[in-house]
Amino acid sequence: MRQVFRFAPSPNGFLHPGHAFSALLNDRLARESSGRFLLRIEDIDTGRARPEFEQAIYEDLAWLGLDWERPVRRQSEHFDDYARALRRLNAMGLLFACDCRRSDIARAAQSRPDWPRDPDGAPHYPGSCRLKPNRSAAEILVTGGFALRLNMRRAVEQAGQGLTWREGETTVAADPSRWGDVILARKDTPASYHLAVVVDDAIQGVTDVVRGRDLYHATSVHRLLQRLLDLPEPRYLHHDLLLDASGEKLAKSRQAESLRDMRAKGVTADAIRQSLG
Ligand code: GLU
Repeated sequence: MRQVFRFAPSPNGFLHPGHAFSALLNDRLARESSGRFLLRIEDIDTGRARPEFEQAIYEDLAWLGLDWERPVRRQSEHFDDYARALRRLNAMGLLFACDCRRSDIARAAQSRPDWPRDPDGAPHYPGSCRLKPNRSAAEILVTGGFALRLNMRRAVEQAGQGLTWREGETTVAADPSRWGDVILARKDTPASYHLAVVVDDAIQGVTDVVRGRDLYHATSVHRLLQRLLDLPEPRYLHHDLLLDASGEKLAKSRQAESLRDMRAKGVTADAIRQSLG
């Protein structure tokens, strides 16, 4: 069976050298294994995704000398697939509707100094809506307007023992409880990153997920969803992140210099490829 790799950027900013590193690594691993290299546009966040950023992704990757299979999967065209997965989880009794605001959660978290936090540092959801019987998840799937959360305790129970993933040559024990009751459908978008990435990797037959170390802990949630939804288990490899001069990871939100700014200054694609090894 041919190995399948993918690069899955979100079109909410211009690509920077960190993205180039990840895309080139996926492409190289695909070539070395005579595998396939896919590009996926992760644009479910319709408030932040912009067509000009998506266009720039195609241009920048082509400039780097990359080629990928067509058609490209654009998440915004596949909400039906995510809804199907949500209905299945709901039928298993694992979803509940939630209308809390971020500020409600922050307030709950302030009530105790040892309030649990997820691996990204965000406070756990306090569980208040689990107790509200007035809105069923089934109704929300039709009407929208509420977030849908995974009942983590029940989900972990149903998934059973021995949830692990393969990280390169090692086996890692997954620990999804560290994330609390994660959101699987948002108020404004009927899917979330965790849900869409798992559904898409399965639909696209991705065998090898190679991505930045910032998503290492998220893999615990992805493995849980794969087990619950009966999806195949890919291999994972989380690569180091490129850092800026102050030791922070390159990020759109920190105004990392984009590939197109570098190109405009006369940096060549070859120079970028060489500098990234
Ligand atoms: N869309 C995610 C990002 O741009 C990557 C998702 C993944 O590789 O799983 O950070």
